Amino acid sequence: MNSYEALCSRLSAVDDLQKAAALLEWDRETHMPIGGVAARARQLATLRTLAHERFTDDRIGALLEAAAGAVPDACGEDLLDVVRRDYVRARRVPKRLVHDLTMAVGHAEAAWRRARTANDFAVFAGHLERIIALNIEKAEALGYDECRYDALLEEYEPGMRTAAVRALFSSLQAELIPMVREIAQCEPPDAAFLHQPYDVDGQWAFGMEVLQAIGYDFMRGRQDTSVHPFSTAFSIDDVRITTRLDPHNVTSGIFSSLHEAGHALYEQGLDPALENTPLADGTSLGMHESQSRLWENQIGRSRPFWEHFYARLQAHFPSQLSSVSLDAFYRAVNRVEPSCIRVEADEVTYNLHILLRFELEEQLIAEQIGARDLPTAWNEQMQAFLGVCPSNDVEGVLQDIHWAMGAIGYFPTYTLGNLMSAQIFTCAQAALPDLNRSAARGDFTDLLAWLRTHFHQYGRRRSAAALMAQFTGEVLSAAPWLAYVRNKYGVLYPIQH
Ligand code: ZN
Repeated sequence: MNSYEALCSRLSAVDDLQKAAALLEWDRETHMPIGGVAARARQLATLRTLAHERFTDDRIGALLEAAAGAVPDACGEDLLDVVRRDYVRARRVPKRLVHDLTMAVGHAEAAWRRARTANDFAVFAGHLERIIALNIEKAEALGYDECRYDALLEEYEPGMRTAAVRALFSSLQAELIPMVREIAQCEPPDAAFLHQPYDVDGQWAFGMEVLQAIGYDFMRGRQDTSVHPFSTAFSIDDVRITTRLDPHNVTSGIFSSLHEAGHALYEQGLDPALENTPLADGTSLGMHESQSRLWENQIGRSRPFWEHFYARLQAHFPSQLSSVSLDAFYRAVNRVEPSCIRVEADEVTYNLHILLRFELEEQLIAEQIGARDLPTAWNEQMQAFLGVCPSNDVEGVLQDIHWAMGAIGYFPTYTLGNLMSAQIFTCAQAALPDLNRSAARGDFTDLLAWLRTHFHQYGRRRSAAALMAQFTGEVLSAAPWLAYVRNKYGVLYPIQH
């Protein structure tokens, strides 16, 4: 075995440990009885620690150096680049800090739940202060060129910089705020019929039909239900999703299935040669989210999609939907309404929720504001961005678990993903002139093949920025997304923009 093969063999074992942990997590969220909580937390900690220790071992560093002369092909070169970056980052964070963060997160998550029950931010504030202080320490350990937030962003969106996010978001914000204001003044379409009682078995059956049609491979995946829908991969040949069915909302389960399947299609579409290596993953959270959003919004909330699927949905729910026209249904699933809760937001207002979180995170990490300033800052920004004000902190600053989980720098990837999805879909439409007609027949074969060829297969071999530049011909910008919403919602609402 040469040094490259020896390196790959060690990396393979690290990957196995991580995938075993992911399987335990999947089980915890889907099938595990509540009694399993304590043992599962211990088992996960053991596996994750083992994986981390094996990966940061000095021998990996030595093999990385030695392997440079034994790389078999271009894929091997890409592998060394990615592993070198991961290795340097992982070794920069001292063990003590990793441990302190894990402990702080454990306490903060519990405090966040208590704070939500009591509707009292003060219960969480001290824990959040600790999380922020540790993240600042982590950013300093990792290092950065311009801005401390860069070090944290790098974890989720490699290669992206705070200044670039700021520029993208401010061009988005400048057009989006007036557009949302204008839409909010229009009469909203009726959507009450979406919220009748809908049998969950019918919803499940319809969702499975949709997943089959878009090309989700059930020989290499499965769908289950969980409280918070997610997708997870144990191998390129085993990529699972979950959904959540609401007996009083016929579309929430469908859009959640489409979203998670979009993530899963990305991972099922990786080049099989990347199996069991660090390259077998989405290249960034933004790129991952672009795939989920493309299937959820550009496809799932489009008129051609429902031209095919609406009659099928009506067949499952004749008493609720037989008197509702396709047009009325299409308008209802695209209803825009500024609201306080991010996860319930429509595709137009959603990004404003992210812009707000990005601004606050940046100020927290730059120590311009403290955790205790958050409720006031949050509510002021909600008013400025969306024209609504949460009536309490549960609907405001306490709504997301991300900060309690220690994840700072994660939120901007949601909007980056939305912007990428529109830029990618615009190119797909140009490359596939029949795309709308195929969608209206329920045939997504060409679209999926196009996404696989240009994006999915590469995994982490190319950065998100490189893929965007190579296959859309442009650097990432807010313009395609703004054009997409302007065109779509200009038809649905009497607006000028
Ligand atoms: Zn997602």
